[in-house]
Amino acid sequence: MKPVRTRFAPSPTGYLHIGGARTALFSWAYARRHGGTFVLRIEDTDVARSTPEAVQAILDGMAWLDLGHDEGPFYQMQRMERYKEVIQQMLAAGTAYYCYTTREELDALRAEQEARKEKPRYDGRWRPEEGKTLPQSPAGVSPAIRFRNPKDGVVAWDDAVKGRVEFANSELDDLVIARADGTPTYNFCVVVDDWDMGITHVIRGDDHVNNTPRQINILTALGGGVPTHAPLSMILGDDGATLSKRHGAVSVMQYDDDGYLPEAVINYLARLGWSHGDDEVFSRQQFVEWFDLDHITASAAQFNTEKLLWLNQHYMKQLPAAELAARVKPRLAARGVDTDNGPCLEKAVALYVDRCNTLNVLADAVEVFYTPVTPSAELLAQHLTDETRPALADFAAGIAGVAWEIPAIAALIKETIAKHGLKMPKLAMPLRALLVGQTQTPSVDAVIELAGRERVAAALKKYL
Ligand code: GLU
Repeated sequence: MKPVRTRFAPSPTGYLHIGGARTALFSWAYARRHGGTFVLRIEDTDVARSTPEAVQAILDGMAWLDLGHDEGPFYQMQRMERYKEVIQQMLAAGTAYYCYTTREELDALRAEQEARKEKPRYDGRWRPEEGKTLPQSPAGVSPAIRFRNPKDGVVAWDDAVKGRVEFANSELDDLVIARADGTPTYNFCVVVDDWDMGITHVIRGDDHVNNTPRQINILTALGGGVPTHAPLSMILGDDGATLSKRHGAVSVMQYDDDGYLPEAVINYLARLGWSHGDDEVFSRQQFVEWFDLDHITASAAQFNTEKLLWLNQHYMKQLPAAELAARVKPRLAARGVDTDNGPCLEKAVALYVDRCNTLNVLADAVEVFYTPVTPSAELLAQHLTDETRPALADFAAGIAGVAWEIPAIAALIKETIAKHGLKMPKLAMPLRALLVGQTQTPSVDAVIELAGRERVAAALKKYL
């Protein structure tokens, strides 16, 4: 068995989106699983659409997901000489040939074929054949170079997802591998790269399935062995339509902005089109141990935001409080909230994490402990009533002398409601409203303890 070598080969024409990240994850995991090598290759030959910003966005996305590559990044634009060298070798070997057909001639050919209801294809007029006399090369026309695709037989390969795939060579025409201006074409560069880089497993989106037979034929002509192919099915949005910007899945970094943990996104992506029994929650290490190509699903995977949110909360709860606080702190700082000015952030996030499914929601929840709180007039009117005011005043008087710990605060609350003949919410709700400007909070004694004696005293004083 050859050592495993996989690659991720994004075109830097946009961000690293969810589909690309899943391809990167599977290629990375397969290499890790087998102690192999994960190669990063930037396919930037579409110069009109490739940008350095997009390259950076891809690198940032992979770094955020912690998908480290072992070799590369290789840039196709820096490998032009190599592609040209291989083309020369193919011309010499007779597996490629010059084609002088002009654009006009190709258009005319296509029109004729369409009129005859035939599939448009190059008719091989410049293809050398034994005993065939080629036309005279026209003066002043720079030729393109075509691959001499085998005419007969089939191109067949073992596809790890679809099984054995066969394609009749008669279906494939002779692909242009270099344009008239000398630039090599996309499908050709991919083949030379996979060959040079010794790729053993091609794990990529199944939108490339149509390129596969042509690429394999070229690779075979070069004398390269055919790698295992594992095409990954499409990812559909929550609504069953193709995943698009509409689904907010523009860039994986958007998930960072939105408060998702990379741990959760990795676990989530792992289950998009791959399964290990009924397992839903597993670590990156576990995934690497389990990952195989046999359990990649051929049918489309559907994105499920609810499930991602659920996983996100799961991973947030798993984090030690100090780590969780460290991830929330910069989010608050970005809003201008200084968390050194208020209660211990670790304690705050630990108290609220059970009710928050993203880091942003958690930041929203704890922000009230570090900023001035102004309860709405409506909330005040609802909870600050003739019935509750005397109890609140008593509670305010009591806090000066109470030990600042949850059981003592709870006892003070109990004592106060008993004295005034009130039910718990009659004191708890106004206290919440005054302290944090909302009535949905964790246990009120814990919220009071967290806020701190001074802040609680000041809030009560302000409104009583
Ligand atoms: N550059 C191609 C893309 O971004 C991937 C090519 C490949 O994996 O072979 O879709």
